[in-house]
Amino acid sequence: MNPPASPTPVEAEAHLRTILATVPDAMVVIDERGSILSFSAAAEKMFGYAEAEVVGRNVKMLMPSPDRERHDQYLENYLTTGKRKIIGIGRVTTALHRDGNTFPIELAVGEAWSAERRIFTGFIRDLTERQETLLRLQDLQSELAHVGRVSEMGTLASSLAHELNQPLTAVASYCESARDLLSDDPDEETLAMIREAMDEAAKQAVRAGQIVRRLRDFMTYGETERRVESLQRLINEANALALVGSREYGIDLQMSLDASADLVLVDRIQIQQVLVNLIRNAIDAMIGSAVRVLSIRTAAGPDSFVTITVEDTGSGIQPSVAPQLFQPFVTSKQNGMGIGLSICRTIVQAHGGRIWFEPGARDGTAFHFTLPSGETRA
Ligand code: ADP
Repeated sequence: MNPPASPTPVEAEAHLRTILATVPDAMVVIDERGSILSFSAAAEKMFGYAEAEVVGRNVKMLMPSPDRERHDQYLENYLTTGKRKIIGIGRVTTALHRDGNTFPIELAVGEAWSAERRIFTGFIRDLTERQETLLRLQDLQSELAHVGRVSEMGTLASSLAHELNQPLTAVASYCESARDLLSDDPDEETLAMIREAMDEAAKQAVRAGQIVRRLRDFMTYGETERRVESLQRLINEANALALVGSREYGIDLQMSLDASADLVLVDRIQIQQVLVNLIRNAIDAMIGSAVRVLSIRTAAGPDSFVTITVEDTGSGIQPSVAPQLFQPFVTSKQNGMGIGLSICRTIVQAHGGRIWFEPGARDGTAFHFTLPSGETRA
């Protein structure tokens, strides 16, 4: 039997065309310089370009800043060092539609060699819908967790009151007996009884103290898991989550990340929660504005901290809520819970940082917070 003949170039091309027309995920193939070689039917739909418009152009046109400016460098770094940052790993990031809007995607990149050159294949899945579901779930979960905590506190408070009542009643009655015994000139026997009553009162007071201490232990948060993380990655992921559903508002996302202040020592999930909260508040505040610029910046300092800024061109903080903005249950929104910023503050402070706000450079508001740097200094 003869081995099957290898496909002719024309057959191979036809095969590739069929794949490109039918893969459900968007597929973009690029060469070593980042030029787009092919663009699947799903990619055309996802990005709003026809294949003929993008072939030969640099793939960075499909990315928002800062990836847009950095992608050539990413490719170059990989080609010279061989160090894989994304190939074969995949990640959640943000893509840019033809109409200028960004949307969350999951990107998986593969590498292949055709006869004469190396090519990279990107599979892209639009996460908008999935993230929307996820966000709704998260909202629900945090609401539930909150309700859970409130009722837990309620139960705790009533059992605490009950438990404290016993020793305190005992302390009061021992003290009263001792006082009564003291009023007549006490003999030795009476003095011994008074001493005993005072001992018992002291013991009961210590017991009450233990109950209070137990309550404090219950309320103290356990240690969180801190690792050195890349801020660029945290911010990209948070953007992907927070910008879900905001496509119609046409938010202009401007990022300016200081590469020398990229590493922070944090609990990734918690800091993402802070970023998502601040970004969503910023978007909420800009819905009624003519200019909708969301600016996210990082900068080294003060000292061994990194400062992160989330600034919007929105309505500004309402004077009625400004003084207690970080207190729980302070909200100006009809459906707001008013716990976002109080959670942000708890998390940032637990990391040793601080959070504050000031009027933005062009109306709106700028929220700043600091996190411990993860850079090891020489
Ligand atoms: P919620 O968003 O549920 O109201 P938050 O604690 O996150 O709870 O925010 C509390 C309040 O702070 C908001 O209701 C809003 O009035 C105000 N606020 C927060 N961020 C901004 C912002 N970027 N611009 C204007 N107001 C804001």
